[in-house]
Amino acid sequence: MSVGQTTTGSFTIAHLRENCIGCGSCALIAPEHWTMSSTDGKATLVMSARKKRFFVKKIDSADYASNLEAARSCPVHIIQMQ
Ligand code: SF4
Repeated sequence: MSVGQTTTGSFTIAHLRENCIGCGSCALIAPEHWTMSSTDGKATLVMSARKKRFFVKKIDSADYASNLEAARSCPVHIIQMQ
């Protein structure tokens, strides 16, 4: 799992990684933000920080649309955009 420092930005992505079923949709749509782990098959939110059960990171408005599309594509609805 790759976890780094939370970046700055206007929006927040929150990922409930433990419930990921590894479909790969988010990584296909926004590969600069999402990668699939070769260890457990789940998606990893790149450069996120753990906050209780979620992995979170800030993004700028330029990255909002692709991540919103990724969130909407998630079959188990575990990507939240705030
Ligand atoms: S779209 Fe959802 S279930 Fe599919 S890999 Fe991404 S976070 Fe996991």
